[in-house]
Amino acid sequence: MEQADVVVVGGGPTGMTVAGDLARAGRTVTVLERRPQINPSSRAFVTMPRTLELLDSRGLAEGLLAKGNLVGAVHLFNGAALDLTRLPSRYPYGLITPQTNVDQALEDYARAQGATLLRGVEVIGLEQDADGVTLTARPKDGGEPTTWRASYVVGADGTHSTVRDLVGMDFPGKSVLRSVVLADVRLEHGPTGDGLTLGSTPEVFGFLVPYRHDGWYRSMTWDRRRQLPDDAPVDIAEVRDVLNRAMGHDVGLAEAGWTSRFHCDERQVANYRAGRVFLAGDAAHAHSPMGGQGMNTGIQDAVNLAWKLALVLDGADEGILDTYHSERHPIGRRVLFQSGAMMRAVTLKPKPARWLRNRLAPRVLGIRRASDVIAGSFSGVTLRYKNGSRGGHDLVGTPATQTALAEGPLTRLQRDGGFMLIREPGTPAILTDLAQAQRIDHGPALLVRPDGYVAWAGSTLTEGEASWHHALLRWTGKAS
Ligand SMILES: Cc1cc2nc3c(=O)[nH]c(=O)nc-3n(C[C@H](O)[C@H](O)[C@H](O)COP(=O)(O)OP(=O)(O)OC[C@H]3O[C@@H](n4cnc5c(N)ncnc54)[C@H](O)[C@@H]3O)c2cc1C
Repeated sequence: MEQADVVVVGGGPTGMTVAGDLARAGRTVTVLERRPQINPSSRAFVTMPRTLELLDSRGLAEGLLAKGNLVGAVHLFNGAALDLTRLPSRYPYGLITPQTNVDQALEDYARAQGATLLRGVEVIGLEQDADGVTLTARPKDGGEPTTWRASYVVGADGTHSTVRDLVGMDFPGKSVLRSVVLADVRLEHGPTGDGLTLGSTPEVFGFLVPYRHDGWYRSMTWDRRRQLPDDAPVDIAEVRDVLNRAMGHDVGLAEAGWTSRFHCDERQVANYRAGRVFLAGDAAHAHSPMGGQGMNTGIQDAVNLAWKLALVLDGADEGILDTYHSERHPIGRRVLFQSGAMMRAVTLKPKPARWLRNRLAPRVLGIRRASDVIAGSFSGVTLRYKNGSRGGHDLVGTPATQTALAEGPLTRLQRDGGFMLIREPGTPAILTDLAQAQRIDHGPALLVRPDGYVAWAGSTLTEGEASWHHALLRWTGKAS
């Protein structure tokens, strides 16, 4: 029987992030992946600002930024635009790059940290007991099944998750949109400017994302009157026709590359944890690709889960694993809501409703505060975890990423994946094993979790239960 601290089922972006982070924390981790190589279809096209911050904490952002195109706005209905340039992030834009680039970077990261990746292996059985989980996996090309034993299993095996089925979890929800067509297209008269562009009529919608500066775009199109099953081939004439109608002019479709037709579900598991098994990414939630949330949410689930598993494997209280569900499930629910709201707004048919939408959207997005709240939520940079039981300060559960530090950006200082103590301005270094930095803006001292969120805020001089030592002890089971 093969052994690992954690076995990750599924080597997509979610699985590779969990595996890389666990290996970085010194745990033995094996990824079992059915595909012989990275999924070659480009799928998710936008890497959001919060994900870029997290990728920077793993030394991956620079390399990916060099392979993409940056967009500062999403152009929606009737001239309404969502402005990303004011986001409180070092990355106030969306990075447009095919998912294959992100998948490759994360696979390289996982391997470099020491994770074992076994491709062409499919998980077919799972049993858990009080001490661990036993998995059965078989080679895709035939051959004898192998048994794996691990303390914990992460099911990052996508929408049709086998792990979810094997632990008997439902995936409640429904299909909400059929026959959405994705295509990589070269346009001679595509939208100018750096934004993402949405066009719609009562019958069709089209969404264009500029990949590079040589006229290639990712298009997403839908036609109310052309509803076909997922496996119906994509006819480029259909994409051309819908794009021209949605954008209101001939976009000059000259060439097409990868295409795919799919349907969108809105589903979420009721609990992200089943004993020693955790679900993350598409295995835990499914929604429309409107708003580009899928891959980003999966990576952020993974980042939240991995350090908690690593701590528990190192002796921390098992109860901290429940915070994975309590923190990430509400975020997943919000993602379903906001991508669903956007999809419903785009596909509205009744004339009065469309009239109202076209009037309201520019007005709401014209209000700076409203626009910033929406942009902050889609981009992930303003999401916070409600974590009341773990500390009283308002900053607990918020990202610490934008704190100005004498030593440089937090994302770079946290590349070893540990907790960090940020001292108040002007305070001398403290005797502790913990990594520390000094803030040069105004504000309290912070204890920052390995995922960059605030675990505690206050004065470094505070003692007893309200001190940073105590907050660290609560999470890690160890005094500083
Ligand atoms: C056609 C299409 C278009 C999309 N477009 C967008 C988009 O425009 N924007 C966006 O944000 N998102 C988009 N997505 C979603 C995005 O690709 C996913 O959200 C993202 O890949 C989720 O990552 P994941 O790691 O959770 O799951 P996945 O990427 O699905 O990875 C799961 C992995 O598990 C493996 N696996 C499954 N079962 C087993 C098993 N039993 N044993 C071993 N391995 C197994 C699979 O081979 C796969 O590699 C799209 C998805 C599809 C399919």
